[in-house]
Amino acid sequence: MRNRNAAVPRNAVVTGSTSGIGLATARALAEGGCHVMLNGFGDRAEIDRLCAEIAARSGTTIVYSGADLSRPEEARALVSEATAVLGPIDILVNNAGIQHVAALHEFPEDKWDLLLAVNLSAAFHTIKAALPAMRERRWGRIVNTASVLGLVGAPHKPAYVAAKHGIIGLTKSVAIEVAEHGITCNAVCPGTVLTPIIEKQIAQQAQVTGLREEQVLEAVFLDKMPTGRLVPPDEVAATIAFLCSDAAASITGTAIPVDGGYTTH
Ligand code: NAD
Repeated sequence: MRNRNAAVPRNAVVTGSTSGIGLATARALAEGGCHVMLNGFGDRAEIDRLCAEIAARSGTTIVYSGADLSRPEEARALVSEATAVLGPIDILVNNAGIQHVAALHEFPEDKWDLLLAVNLSAAFHTIKAALPAMRERRWGRIVNTASVLGLVGAPHKPAYVAAKHGIIGLTKSVAIEVAEHGITCNAVCPGTVLTPIIEKQIAQQAQVTGLREEQVLEAVFLDKMPTGRLVPPDEVAATIAFLCSDAAASITGTAIPVDGGYTTH
C-alpha cells in the first residue's frame, strides 16, 4: 500500500469484507489510498451504502463482488472480476472465514468440507489466480487472516483449527516461492474480536451453559487474553495494512499474533 499522495495507487481485494475484520481492513487500505474490491455476504443495499461511504472518505474506487468462496470457480473468478474493474491486483487479503462448533465425534462431514473450503482452499485459489500479475509487476502483498487457533489447539473446533493451521502452512510455502519476485505473504492471528462469528458462539455457549452472555465472554474468551480486553477490529486491520505497505518488504512468511497475549500461555 502507498499513502494517498502516491503516484500509483494499489489495487486490493479483501475477501469477507462485508463485516468485522475484513470491513475494517478494506477501510484501512482505502484510507491508505488503495482501490478496493469488497467481498462477502449481506444485504445488498447495506453493502452498496458501505461502498459509497468508504469511497467518499477515501476518494478511491470501492467495488463489491458477492463471490461465494466455498466454490473454487467463484474464488478464482473473484480475482479476474477485480482485475477487470480495478486493473491488476497488487494486494490480496484472504480474510473470509466461518466457524462450526461441535465435538469431533459428532462433527458433520458437510461442515468439515465447507469450513476447509472457505477458510483454507479459497485462499489457495485466489493466491494462484493473483500471483501471475504480481510476479509480472514484481510487487505484491498477500495477507491471510489465520487466528490464534492457527497456532494453538482448541476443543470442539476441529475444522477451524485444522484450516487455520493449514493457512499458516500455505502462507510460509507461498512466501518462500515468491520472495524473489518482490511479493510477500504473511498471516495475522487475531485473538477474540467481537464480530458476528464470535457473537454467534457466545449466544450458543450461553444457551448450553445457562450463563449470561457477558459471563460467557468473560469466562470463555477474555480469560485467555492477559490484556483482558477484546481486540478491536481496527487493530487487526492496522497490522494487515502495515504488512501491505512498502515498509514491510522484508517481512514475509510470518504468522503475527494480534491477540492480547493469548498465545503467550
Ligand atoms: P465476520 O463474520 O464479521 O466476517 C466474516 C466475513 O466472511 C463476512 O464478510 C462474511 O460475509 C464472509 N463470508 C463468509 N462465508 C463466505 C463465503 N462462502 N464466501 C465469501 N465470503 C464469505 O467475522 P470476522 O471475525 O471479521 O472474521 C474474519 C476472519 O477473521 C475470519 O477468517 C475469522 O476466522 C478470523 N478470525 C476472527 C476472530 C474473531 O474473534 N472474530 C479471531 C481470529 C480469527
